[in-house]
Amino acid sequence: MRNLKKLVLPSSGERITFDNGIPVVPNNPIVPFIRGDGTGVDIWPATQKVLDAAIKKSYGNERKINWFKVYAGDEACEVYGTYNYLPQDTVEAIKYFGIAIKGPLTTPVGGGIRSLNVALRQIFDLYSCVRPCKYYSGTPSPHKKPEDLDIVVYRENTEDIYMGIEWAAKDEIGINLINYLNNSVIPSSKNLNNRTIPSNCGIGIKPVSKKGSQRHIRKAIEHAKRLLGNKRHVTLVHKGNIMKFTEGAFRDWGYELAINEFRNDCITERESWILDNLNNCQNISIENNARLIEPGFDKLTEDKKDIICQEIKKVISTISESHGNNKWKKMILIDDRIADSIFQQIQTRPQEYSILATLNLNGDYLSDAAAAIVGGLGMAPGANIGDKAAIFEATHGTAPKHAGLNKINPGSVILSGVMMLEFFGWNEAAQLITNGISRSIKEKKVTYDLARLMEPKVEALSCSDFAKSIIDNF
Ligand code: NAP
Repeated sequence: MRNLKKLVLPSSGERITFDNGIPVVPNNPIVPFIRGDGTGVDIWPATQKVLDAAIKKSYGNERKINWFKVYAGDEACEVYGTYNYLPQDTVEAIKYFGIAIKGPLTTPVGGGIRSLNVALRQIFDLYSCVRPCKYYSGTPSPHKKPEDLDIVVYRENTEDIYMGIEWAAKDEIGINLINYLNNSVIPSSKNLNNRTIPSNCGIGIKPVSKKGSQRHIRKAIEHAKRLLGNKRHVTLVHKGNIMKFTEGAFRDWGYELAINEFRNDCITERESWILDNLNNCQNISIENNARLIEPGFDKLTEDKKDIICQEIKKVISTISESHGNNKWKKMILIDDRIADSIFQQIQTRPQEYSILATLNLNGDYLSDAAAAIVGGLGMAPGANIGDKAAIFEATHGTAPKHAGLNKINPGSVILSGVMMLEFFGWNEAAQLITNGISRSIKEKKVTYDLARLMEPKVEALSCSDFAKSIIDNF
């Protein structure tokens, strides 16, 4: 690690390393933390107390986090000077230690950084944003049965319309681009017929690559491998019916990855349907099997019939032995849903879903919608994960009007800490904290944001007292 100008390393502890994207965690890791702006002054100390207490109770002196204070946001400007929102020291420290946990950060005004959160994701290539949405009994929710929702949204973090490649309607470069598209590109693309982009349009580019999609979906499938029962399920969310070569390609590359890399662990929804409806009697022809599997088979064109027969033959020859006779039910089910349909289904049939792998924009919407069902952003944690680093963070902002009042809900950062402990494989400590949160909420010992929604109304705890109540309830 390069010389750090203003940071003080903890006196002991070791570094987390990564082996092919998998963290190798010592018993005494050094973990850089960014306190956060605004309410970070309240949330961070509460979070640190809860995490330390859970580790101590679970492992005694055998395991310990050595906290390493690093700076970003307003606090960084105080220490490193004006507009120094993300000092090189901080970047070096996170790069070297491979991990960080952070409170919320103010989006800088001036200084050339669009968003600190986006900058951190880009610098460390944290390509998967992971947002679990799980209900804690007693949390006020607008939903009738919020306990049925227990999902993890895997949102791709680096591509899609979020790359910010866009031009305003009046930008001359944008106008030139539209002219070029209208006069040259569209006329020579047969499938676009004679479409024309109207003048005075803002315009944005939506890049989606196979590499970017597959490395992200791989993380989602690896997560599903660690789950049990019908939670071993990854749904590819897309709007491929409209955006065939970006969103549709994301779906196709997802299936391709599942089949090529995870063949022994995965089955697609279509394959499971074929296996379940296959008549294995030797004397039933492929064509008769196709009649069982595909309703309306006889009305199809010969070409389509042939495609279906080939598909059935392939399933029989490749996976009927390994995945048939219900063996697939223990494997990871891969299916896909159109984005608008999944918004309905997490409301109407939430128990059917587990991991939702999405592109950037869909994941942004979907993770907040899912968080609302289970009680809002105050209880929604997040992590941004790549192959060489991971940053765990609050999903809400700095809520400046509540800063320093010891009032705000620390739940989001505490639960991000739970995700970090699970990432370490320190599941006992993680479980203690989720138990503590559940029991506190059941006892209606909560901060103002949840207290005001409870019926009948309850007295709110302060931020630090909520943390204490979680610890008392381990
Ligand atoms: P915000 O900070 O998320 O606050 C909006 C409202 O959400 C608060 O007034 C509060 O509502 C509620 N809230 C936020 N955090 C809460 C918590 N921990 N517990 C309970 N309720 C909470 O959004 P903002 O005011 O739009 O943004 C402020 C700054 O944060 C901006 O600079 C923004 O760019 C930045 N930001 C940072 C992140 C991040 O670092 N990940 C994310 C989003 C925004 P009530 O007052 O009604 O109780």
